[in-house]
Amino acid sequence: MVMVERVEAIYQDVVKRNPGEVEFHQAVKEVLDCLGPVLVKYPDFTEAKIIERICEPERQTIFRVPWQDDRGQVQINRGFRVQFNSALGPYKGGLRFHPSVYLGIIKFLGFEQIFKNSLTGLPIGGAKGGSDFDPKGKSDNEVMRFCQSFMTELWRIIGEHTDIPAGDIGVGGREIGYLFGQYKRLTNKFEAGVLTGKGLVYGGSQVRTEATGYGCTYFVEEMLKGKKNGFKGKKVVVSGSGNVAIYTLEKVHQLGGKVIAMSDSNGVIVDEKGCNIETIRQLKEVERRRIKDYCDYHRHAKFIHGGNIWDVPCDVAMPSATQNEITGKDAKKLVKNGCIAVGEGANMPTTPDGVQVFLSGGVLFGPGKAANAGGVATSALEMQQNAGREAWGFEETDAKLHQIMRNVYQLCSEAADEFGSPGNFVVGANIAGFIKVARAMSAHGLV
Ligand code: NDP
Repeated sequence: MVMVERVEAIYQDVVKRNPGEVEFHQAVKEVLDCLGPVLVKYPDFTEAKIIERICEPERQTIFRVPWQDDRGQVQINRGFRVQFNSALGPYKGGLRFHPSVYLGIIKFLGFEQIFKNSLTGLPIGGAKGGSDFDPKGKSDNEVMRFCQSFMTELWRIIGEHTDIPAGDIGVGGREIGYLFGQYKRLTNKFEAGVLTGKGLVYGGSQVRTEATGYGCTYFVEEMLKGKKNGFKGKKVVVSGSGNVAIYTLEKVHQLGGKVIAMSDSNGVIVDEKGCNIETIRQLKEVERRRIKDYCDYHRHAKFIHGGNIWDVPCDVAMPSATQNEITGKDAKKLVKNGCIAVGEGANMPTTPDGVQVFLSGGVLFGPGKAANAGGVATSALEMQQNAGREAWGFEETDAKLHQIMRNVYQLCSEAADEFGSPGNFVVGANIAGFIKVARAMSAHGLV
């Protein structure tokens, strides 16, 4: 009880010190709510104020990003990089370009990233960055000019041994290419290890593009296996139709499941025959079109403008778009419709009341910081290849990713058992991720 009150006081202090950053508060609360028993077992963490320190980013940078659009008009955006924690290794985490980006979003993502990176077992600290720039509807030239301006500030604080950004919403291979080109030009160095998610021709890794979606599907497969079940014959709903969603679709189909619905911010497509990956890749990765156009190529499929994807009955739900996309109400509907497992491909896609509905409803629930760790894990494999001047094959890299996801599942499962919440992977992920970082912070002294 005393511990619970202590943790609550730390949380209240975080809210007070970071006003208005509601997503950051939410992410902190979820982790802190799990840590009471850890502090009882490791009282030295309390004395060293590890939790208070972990909630305060090591460094936060906010900068102006001026650029010119195709009409010659000057545009101004805001850039962010929050270097949250470097106890386990250099800062590592993606860049998000989306109009909703502000400091609270970057801090929630950076905070989650600390524990996610810890769970991968690889030597990487936690960070996140991005901008309120909206790449949607912009020409390639506009995106290039923006990326060049963004990197003209960012390059000062990153480096292969310091901080290694990657992609996230709105930042894929095209953007990483422009960012890398500008970094190379500014520093006069071909420092491959400074960014991950690079193209294969200039130091990228096989499977990095597929990694988050594949990894999330592997994690759900492990949860299902724990119940002597599997993807075979399962109806799956995957929200979003970006990088994570597309490769979740591919892996689910390879494992014998069927993805019957996908979405973007305009609406939902339902294809009871199973969504066609080639069409979605062509529409989204190549032509950058909207998901509704899928129905032009598959007449039997239907598009629901502004629809709620969680109304579509399924066995497995894999939210892969954005934060807080599954509310408590949505979760209740999913449970009522027979959903048995949820794998969070996105970061924090389920609201806290939604998580409670799933946990109390006996749904297997894979939280984002565990289930979507495959992306950053494969980024770390890309760093390993860059450092060794190597390029591994697809199957070899995929096998490593698969093993990492099995290990992440195992870690979460064992920590949940050890701390009295068997089957609760939220508790397991938060505790297992935290303990390793806390031990490293203790070892480093008061820094
Ligand atoms: P993409 O930009 O490739 O795709 C995002 C998808 O989600 C798009 O279909 C987009 O639709 C939809 N979306 C985004 N924001 C919203 C919104 N506010 N409302 C409705 N739909 C939305 O991003 P990723 O696939 O890379 O990322 C998806 C999620 O996965 C994010 O939460 C990200 O943090 C997480 N993640 C990504 C990793 C990676 O390796 N890429 C690693 C780990 C986690 P539209 O085009 O209409 O905006």
